Amino acid sequence: MAEIIEERPLKFTLPSRIERLADLAFNLWWVWNPEAQRLFKGIDELLWEGSYHNPVAFLRDVERSRLNAMTADPYFLDKYDRVIREFDRYMNEKDTWFSQTYPQLVNDQVAYFSFEFGLHESLMVYAGGLGILAGDHLKESSDLGIPLVGVGFVYTYGYFSQRISEDGWQHADNVPIDFDSLPLIRLLNADGEPLLVSIDLPGRKVFARIYQLNVGRVKLYLLHTNIPENGPNDRQLTDRLYISDLELRISQEILLGMGGVRALRALGYEPTAWHMNEGHSAFLTLERALEYVEKGLSFAEAVELIKKTNIFTTHTPVPAGNDEFPLWLIDKYFVQIWSDLGITRDDFINIAKVSQSWGGEAFSMPVLALKLSDFRNGVSELHGIVARKMWNFLWPDEKADQVPIGAITNGIHTETWLARQMGLLFSRYLGSDWVDHIDDPNMWAKVENIPDEEFWRVRRHLKRKLVAYTIQRARGQWQTNQRHPVQTIASGVLLDPYVLTIGFARRFATYKRADLILTDYDRLLKIVTNERRPVQFIFAGKAHPADEPGKQMIQRVYQAVKDARFGGRLVFLEDYDMNIARYLVQGVDVWLNNPRKPREASGTSGMKAALNGVLNFSILDGWWREGYNGRNGWAISENTPDAADPAEQDRLDALSLYDILENEIVPLFYDQRSADNMPVDWIARMKENIRTLAGQFSTRRMLKEYMTQMYEPAILNGIDERNQG
Ligand SMILES: *Cc1c(COP(=O)(O)O)cnc(C)c1O
Repeated sequence: MAEIIEERPLKFTLPSRIERLADLAFNLWWVWNPEAQRLFKGIDELLWEGSYHNPVAFLRDVERSRLNAMTADPYFLDKYDRVIREFDRYMNEKDTWFSQTYPQLVNDQVAYFSFEFGLHESLMVYAGGLGILAGDHLKESSDLGIPLVGVGFVYTYGYFSQRISEDGWQHADNVPIDFDSLPLIRLLNADGEPLLVSIDLPGRKVFARIYQLNVGRVKLYLLHTNIPENGPNDRQLTDRLYISDLELRISQEILLGMGGVRALRALGYEPTAWHMNEGHSAFLTLERALEYVEKGLSFAEAVELIKKTNIFTTHTPVPAGNDEFPLWLIDKYFVQIWSDLGITRDDFINIAKVSQSWGGEAFSMPVLALKLSDFRNGVSELHGIVARKMWNFLWPDEKADQVPIGAITNGIHTETWLARQMGLLFSRYLGSDWVDHIDDPNMWAKVENIPDEEFWRVRRHLKRKLVAYTIQRARGQWQTNQRHPVQTIASGVLLDPYVLTIGFARRFATYKRADLILTDYDRLLKIVTNERRPVQFIFAGKAHPADEPGKQMIQRVYQAVKDARFGGRLVFLEDYDMNIARYLVQGVDVWLNNPRKPREASGTSGMKAALNGVLNFSILDGWWREGYNGRNGWAISENTPDAADPAEQDRLDALSLYDILENEIVPLFYDQRSADNMPVDWIARMKENIRTLAGQFSTRRMLKEYMTQMYEPAILNGIDERNQG
């Protein structure tokens, strides 16, 4: 293997006593370790906030005199030593869950490909749930010691930054990331030049540089094309996420799939199993097949081999949401490749040809992935059922329930999403080693031991934190932007930390029906402005810039938010991201999710809320259909049979939503108070919610299922193949 040099974009001059802060800054381990965050925050809290919690920018900008002063602060040094010791222990741990459970597999590797990775708010290379799931997947793999390596893109503009104008219209600002102030490590070859990989596109080569992100023990490699070796058009390939231009899109996907395999090879990796998170990376199957064809196998033989070690996870429950390319584009981009593979155009197209509703034909990325993988899954039980039906036509001899697509329900990375104060309660009452038992239901049963007073004190603290943060943000936006005063009220300056608060935050895709709550405007007015028992709603979320109905939905919600009759109790937080998500899922009382069933393949934000004691109030779709037990939250339309007509379903769901809110949620929060003003039944429900959901919907449980159902058998197939070949 060629020598690879890792180069940090910045070399800090730090006092030697605390110089290892730089090592912390270049490994995202700190993202899920509150004590490490508090180390940075303790040096200069304002700058920490100002850097958007980015330690690389922080260490660049912090006053040197301040750093020197810290070296004389015994309290700080003690904390520093503890954090560094813990970091070193974590990084050097040989005895992981993986190495203990699969000692015979420690020399094998799983490659994990995704279009987006949501790891932290300072690294805007994610759009939403799919990316955050991928980020949580890497963090948990690191914790469990799973030998996984990630491949994706670093985008110049990532996903857009959202601004709402006074009329409620969403504007997309493209803010370029600053490569020099992020923990993106440049990879160089032995001569000190940037390590490049290339792919062939029609009439030219496109080159990509490789950046490395350290995610605890896991490495994530990110490709980027804005470099001098490329022409102006190709430089834009990795500008942004989810572009609508199909030529750019297919080029991106060729780069991710085929270029990603080449990047791993250039770095000396020989992964045994290959996991595609959604269909965007499915061209990796072609690159893998090419490798075998070049060794003398036929395409058919190569396919038989690679299938045994390919894994595909689908996230899209409707045909229209799937990634497809018109055949003329496939002709243009793959004519060389099918001849290199030794097959005809028809053979090639037939692998992934689908008919479209308008009668034409297209090349489907999920079909390519499904056909060339032996391991396939959806992301919740219900989504598994839906996916088996949807893809039944690929296995025409099977009944729908026999279609070979399984289900592994999504989870969240517990330590990333847990409020620090809640974590302290867990350490105290669930055992100091509770993080080693996240998927053990017996451990979570101990949540009953937390005294109500302490539990309620933390919940109130988290709501006050959310309100304080919202006001702080509103002030900042009022100062810096051209805004109408009513927008400052819409941003939440009138929030009240004592009022029952409901959160609704996610992508504004129309099936998620953010405006369902507005169905009966007068009834909502009465609920929100009830004098003794008022209710607050906080909305947040972006619509895809090309999604006009999604943007109109934001506008409808924003009009209501600005309506003075609601008294500022409806709020819209602009520019939803992981930071706002954390405040919301930790700080509100109730998490509302009302998608049109069965469109929500899984959903994960409700899991983040549940972990922090926030009660879910949702449609029985995706994960909530598995999580709800009648006592740990509320289910919308639990007893209503599904309607055939979507408009009728909307009406029924809205009715159920209002009824439960008025008759169950509001009274439980306000009326059943103890002598010292605690909602005792509410608290019992919050504990039941943590007890039954926190472990079950964790990535700890999820990754162990991926290990037994996917990774272990795929790796064993790969080892077999190696031993024969
Ligand atoms: C968790 C999360 C999501 C996904 O939420 P869903 O409930 O799955 O829609 C999207 N965006 C951000 C910023 C998140 O943190």
